[in-house]
Amino acid sequence: MNFSPGILAAFAAFAFVLVGACQFVDNESLDAGPLVTDSAAVFAALVLFGLVLPGRFGLPAQIFIAMVLGIAAGWGLAVAGRLVVVTDYLGVFGQLFLLPLKMVIVPLVFVSVLLGAAGLGDVRKLGSVGLKVTAFFLTSTSVAVFIGMMFFNVIHPGRGMQSVGDQYLAEKAAEGDAPEAKEAPALSAGMKIQKEILPQIFQNPIMVTDTDKAPILAIITLALLLGAGLGAIGERSESAIKALQAADGALITIIMWIMNLAPLGVFALMAHAIATLGFEYLQSLSVYVITVVLGLVVHAGFLIFVMVGLVAGISPARYVRAMAPAMQVAFTTSSSNAALPINIRCAVERLGVDRGIVQFVLPIGATANMDGTALYTAVATLFVAEVLGIDMTTTQQLTIFVMSIVISIGTAGIPGGSIAMMGLIYDAVGLPLEALGLILGVDRVLDMCRTTVNVMGDSIGAAIVARFEGRPAVAPSGVT
Ligand code: ASP
Repeated sequence: MNFSPGILAAFAAFAFVLVGACQFVDNESLDAGPLVTDSAAVFAALVLFGLVLPGRFGLPAQIFIAMVLGIAAGWGLAVAGRLVVVTDYLGVFGQLFLLPLKMVIVPLVFVSVLLGAAGLGDVRKLGSVGLKVTAFFLTSTSVAVFIGMMFFNVIHPGRGMQSVGDQYLAEKAAEGDAPEAKEAPALSAGMKIQKEILPQIFQNPIMVTDTDKAPILAIITLALLLGAGLGAIGERSESAIKALQAADGALITIIMWIMNLAPLGVFALMAHAIATLGFEYLQSLSVYVITVVLGLVVHAGFLIFVMVGLVAGISPARYVRAMAPAMQVAFTTSSSNAALPINIRCAVERLGVDRGIVQFVLPIGATANMDGTALYTAVATLFVAEVLGIDMTTTQQLTIFVMSIVISIGTAGIPGGSIAMMGLIYDAVGLPLEALGLILGVDRVLDMCRTTVNVMGDSIGAAIVARFEGRPAVAPSGVT
């Protein structure tokens, strides 16, 4: 930890100039009392999140602490009547965190979906194995989203939060950017397909007339087609794919950089939410966490008992014993990529699945097959819409269903990988990106759970494909 006077002076000067400039623009004069106390509060936050916490804790712990402190600060500052510190001054950092994230979403989605599709080109080359893998991935991910949406519709974790949503909407309206609930025009289904659905999927993504509304679905469609095209031209696409892989790596690195601002961003967003929305919101967050976890547990049950036990023909207990180390790594790292090597080892050496199939299915699965992420994305989107009191039309629900699956294919297997992608669904169904702040504080714990389910799906896929290829898993000797 470096408490050098230079950095402290820079933080102090920055806080002072920020608060002073804001005050001056708002009042055309400076208020000495609040200028000093507000600057001191901003300075303290900068020191805490810029120096103290990073020196002692890893990013997940910092984000968690930020959430707790955000709750306390939101409440305290609201009581003290200095909410402006969080909303206006520290809010700058909230946006500094959200906007760059928003900026890299489109290129990231484009590149990773494209690479995923190009990878599936390989899958097709492998004929029957490829077909079976794709069929399993799509089926299990769809089941996951279905389970998530079902639990959401039974529990309705955001119900009764109308007042929270109303407040949020009123505030946004005051700021002049109220998210509107899109009303479905009275069109026949056939006309809807022609006028609403298809134009969203196929349109020129480059000549966007309204830069605020990047045509996400069209970008995904183009990425899928281009990826399939690259997969189809074989060797000639090698250098292009290498370049795109490098771009993908660079974009993921940028996200890691932006995530360094997450603690300060989460602190500001959380404090804002508590100060304006109240404690009722916290209560609903816990119901939301329970909803996601319940969905994940039921889906894991489906995977283990139905997919492993019945379809792959392996005893569920043996599967869990063999794969436990991979699940543990997935749970603790929140990263499918980090868990990939151990997942491969466990599947081959402990579960006894054919090595060739494992080495083919698991690397693709680590990015393209994320049941937990798909389930989570759907529930998180529906929850935010419910809290904001925005009714999702059937078309929007269908969009959430399909996009959760597509996004899970494009999400990188890194901690918080899906967070960058969530903005896509929000855009598509008309939710404000700022609403991410409502769920970010509890994301890490849900990330641990969904990554475990993601990783299980890959080894199960390999075991099923192996069985249908006539090479069923055989318990290696010495492993029971
Ligand atoms: N952390 C997840 C994974 O690596 C991705 C996500 O949902 O954020 O599988």
